[in-house]
Amino acid sequence: MKITKPGQKIAEGKTKVVYATEDPNLVWLHSKDQVTALNGKKHDDFANKGALANQISTLLFQYLNDQGFQIHFVEQINATDDVVQKLTMLPVEVVVRNRAAGHFVIRFGAENLQPLNPPVQEFYYKSDQQDDPMINPSQLEALQIATPEESQAMEAQARALTKALTNLFAQSGMQLVDIKYEFGRNQQGELILGDELSPDNMRIIDQATGQSLDKDVYRHDNGDLQHGYQTVLDRLTAQLGEA
Ligand code: 5GP
Repeated sequence: MKITKPGQKIAEGKTKVVYATEDPNLVWLHSKDQVTALNGKKHDDFANKGALANQISTLLFQYLNDQGFQIHFVEQINATDDVVQKLTMLPVEVVVRNRAAGHFVIRFGAENLQPLNPPVQEFYYKSDQQDDPMINPSQLEALQIATPEESQAMEAQARALTKALTNLFAQSGMQLVDIKYEFGRNQQGELILGDELSPDNMRIIDQATGQSLDKDVYRHDNGDLQHGYQTVLDRLTAQLGEA
């Protein structure tokens, strides 16, 4: 069945709106022009931000699909809208860090951008009320959020995804510093990569200049968000072709 229009709104988050479709296994995702930081405490509208983030995400999902990863992305409808598999999302953020930045620097006093070998993997419980606390597999099991097998699978998938994306970015003159993933279960109970893959949820620096090309410039008010996102999109398009 070809999906041509969104149905009823199911949910609205900080940067996306989810609509039902005529197919119970598919949902329609719309990316908003909103950018947020500090768990939504700071938020602003940026023209074209939804389209830039969504186009980057589409290119990265298509690349990962070609590499054999299980992803929710089905098709792009227009610059800001996609059709994706309907998943029951786990309230978990899976972070992989190639280099120290952000909370890792604050928490452990590491030097900013210090290489982390092997890359660090962390889980966070997604809860604005609790400020997304760090959580471990035994806590995920006790709270019935994820089974030990699911925690293991999320870690393994996040590490493999990060390896693939790190190589892709390196080929485009960019360094992937860290990244956050979210997984959900499909109808068969399989874990699938959901959410989005854009500079909203990863740190990327220009290999040549060290310039930040992601949401950090908005978090710290020290750069041009649109310029960074456009640079990432242009380089990935040059590498992979149009979405
Ligand atoms: P940190 O823990 O250093 O704040 O973030 C690590 C990585 O995960 C960064 O790439 C950051 O963008 C991403 N990340 C962590 N928490 C969130 C979140 O709540 N939303 C989004 N979009 N990304 C997050």
